[in-house]
Amino acid sequence: MTDTLAFAKALIARRSITTDDAGCLDLIAARLAPLGFVCERLDSSGPTGHVCNLWARLGSAKPVVVFAGHTDVVPPGPLEKWASDPFVPTERDGKLFGRGAADMKTSVAAAVIAVERLLAANTVLNGSVAFLLTSDEEGDATDGTVKVVEALKARGESLDCCIVGEPTSVNWQGDMIKNGRRGSLSGTLTVRGVQGHVAYPEKVRNPIHLVAPVLAELAATRWDEGNAFFPPTSFQISNIHAGTGATNVVPGTLEVLFNFRFSTASTADGLKQRVYDILARHGLDYDLAWLLGGRPFITPPGRLVAALTEAIRAEAGVTPELSTSGGTSDGRFIAAICSEVVEFGPVNATIHKLDEFVALADIEPLACIYAATFKKLLS
Ligand SMILES: [Zn+2]
Repeated sequence: MTDTLAFAKALIARRSITTDDAGCLDLIAARLAPLGFVCERLDSSGPTGHVCNLWARLGSAKPVVVFAGHTDVVPPGPLEKWASDPFVPTERDGKLFGRGAADMKTSVAAAVIAVERLLAANTVLNGSVAFLLTSDEEGDATDGTVKVVEALKARGESLDCCIVGEPTSVNWQGDMIKNGRRGSLSGTLTVRGVQGHVAYPEKVRNPIHLVAPVLAELAATRWDEGNAFFPPTSFQISNIHAGTGATNVVPGTLEVLFNFRFSTASTADGLKQRVYDILARHGLDYDLAWLLGGRPFITPPGRLVAALTEAIRAEAGVTPELSTSGGTSDGRFIAAICSEVVEFGPVNATIHKLDEFVALADIEPLACIYAATFKKLLS
């Protein structure tokens, strides 16, 4: 068994259902400290409970090259539907099964072993290597990476290149790097009318009728054209609630939940203003509450994309596609203090599913890709 496989198994064996770290970070710190890493726990407690965060850095020089990720996993779901216990790492049919095998304990293990091997080979690293790991990525992500970033920012520390080890590969390992993510902005719109009997229309104000043309306009609006890295911003309504259930009552209020997935061609404030303008034009009586889930970020091709692409080509024989598709990730927080952020990791076909696995044949190449990338960035 290789070091990478053994370490991945040791992490999968820990039952770290978000936000419980179950000792994963201790295991990682115990591996990094003997290499000379200064390991700091930046734990945080919030609405979801106690969150474990690790900032481990080797060296004090620039550039600072970071591997970021998470040790928490999503719940396994019904245990009896798994072919083997999700917290007993199991090799079967050329695969390593277990919750977190793909998302993302194998990546974490591969990155730690990559650095261990570079140092064992006396590789000169001109700069610093660091790990930013949390047990709060799969949950609300309120006390994880965002808190570490705030702490580093308060100390005036900035980062240069960061690889987030999320499982970005689609059909085979190496086929996709995420070099950015769209932002997410949600709104809860409450429209007020006047409740009454459907037979007396002059005595009611029907919020369903009032909001219908507004929703039509919002849904038809072209918010931007996107840009070289992003598709156009999308607007989607996810919920509408109104009505008492009775067929003879006009409801007094209506609630609409909507979400923008927006590119760097728009800003959250700009989108909000345009929504306010549309609402004002229709003269609605309303409340509107916003939640900014994340700002968009983009890392145009540069030294990080080049180093990682070259490493993937050399180790996996694949030329990765650059993409900004998918949901938000912790990259949105790191981008605030790091000039180049990308995500790269194993195939994501089984993440969050029953019988999650990573191909055994992909594990060593992943460690080699991370090692070659660190080496190139710090050469
Ligand atoms: Zn993940």
